[in-house]
Amino acid sequence: MKISMLEEQGYTHIDCWCDACRISVWVPFVMIRSRRPRLELGQMTIAELALRMRCSRCGGRPTKCREARQSDAPGYQSRYSYPKG
Ligand SMILES: [Zn+2]
Repeated sequence: MKISMLEEQGYTHIDCWCDACRISVWVPFVMIRSRRPRLELGQMTIAELALRMRCSRCGGRPTKCREARQSDAPGYQSRYSYPKG
């Protein structure tokens, strides 16, 4: 499912988990858009976006990513760098 479709269903964030650091990080789609305006975010799936995410602590790829709603957000500060591209 494309991210634009997820947004229509009320999803606002990507939630990524780094197994090495054991941290979970939420990045709002709007923040990715503002930092990476050339990224066709709405046309990507969560799996495709996940490939562009990196953990800013260890530099590795997060092992699991999923879509998330604002209401689910635990209030973490972003620890992941923004997607490349
Ligand atoms: Zn990490």
